Amino acid sequence: MKILAIAFLLMASIAGNVSAQTPDTPVNCDSCEEWNQPVKPFNIFGNTWYVGVKGLSAVLVTGPKGHILLDGGMPQSAPLIAANIRALGFRVEDVKFILNSHAHWDHAGGIHALQRATGAVVVASASAAKVLQSGTNGVDDPQYQATPVINIARVDKVKVIGEGDVVTAGPLGLTAHMTPGHTPGGTTWTWVSCEGSRCLNVVYADSLNPYASGDFRYTGNSSDQGNGKNKTADISVSFAASIARVAALKCDIIISVHPNMTDVMEKAAKRTADSNPFIDANGCRDYAKEASDLLSKRLAMERGEVIPGAAKDTAHHSH
Ligand SMILES: [Zn+2]
Repeated sequence: MKILAIAFLLMASIAGNVSAQTPDTPVNCDSCEEWNQPVKPFNIFGNTWYVGVKGLSAVLVTGPKGHILLDGGMPQSAPLIAANIRALGFRVEDVKFILNSHAHWDHAGGIHALQRATGAVVVASASAAKVLQSGTNGVDDPQYQATPVINIARVDKVKVIGEGDVVTAGPLGLTAHMTPGHTPGGTTWTWVSCEGSRCLNVVYADSLNPYASGDFRYTGNSSDQGNGKNKTADISVSFAASIARVAALKCDIIISVHPNMTDVMEKAAKRTADSNPFIDANGCRDYAKEASDLLSKRLAMERGEVIPGAAKDTAHHSH
């Protein structure tokens, strides 16, 4: 009788936990399954760890007064990221802040579930915070016209930061750099990680890919262009400035929001006790150069009066 009662209580508490942690609806897309392949978490340098999935980065910076997590992948990535944090021997409950790079469903879709699991404060730029709280992108987002529309699991409480703001947890300090372009609220984050007395500048670089949907133009849509509904400003100059900003960062290690953009998995595979391929003084400049070339091509296309995205709209590709 007593044993049964205990068993019943146990079952009730398990059921309670399950309902309290009901995962957010997974996103379906052509690349989703490939992106969400589990990856064994690994060290990047010092207190900086990769805890993301194969195609979507999530980075954990650890400290004695709590940890800071960058990005949450898709809703279905959230449990994998949490498991990776635990596999490294850290407590999910010790994550004090979750920072966002940009508010697209493939980097921010898992933040809601991770906030629930950690109790962390979510931090984003003003523009990204609006998207996280509403779940939908504004017309100023180059992928606003993507089809199908994929919303983000809404995040209730978001702390808004601006250029140069520092998020601190004990000795940790992560600095926000506004890098609009891929999205209006795009944010690149930097911090210093140390191994003994050797301290290096780490950059979590937001996407700088000029990828757009529908008739969006980086050179601006006037109300009589395209479908005439979505009037947007010329953001080509601010986008180029973001690229230049990333190129100029103090940067010993770069980690991009999509790991393949800076060969994160290849570097991890080549890592040995004596050499750390993540350390690369040219990493940020190379990343910026690639983005700059893509933007130049894109702007040339727009100036040639070709309607961007008219030929094909690979909506699922959201780099
Ligand atoms: Zn994106």
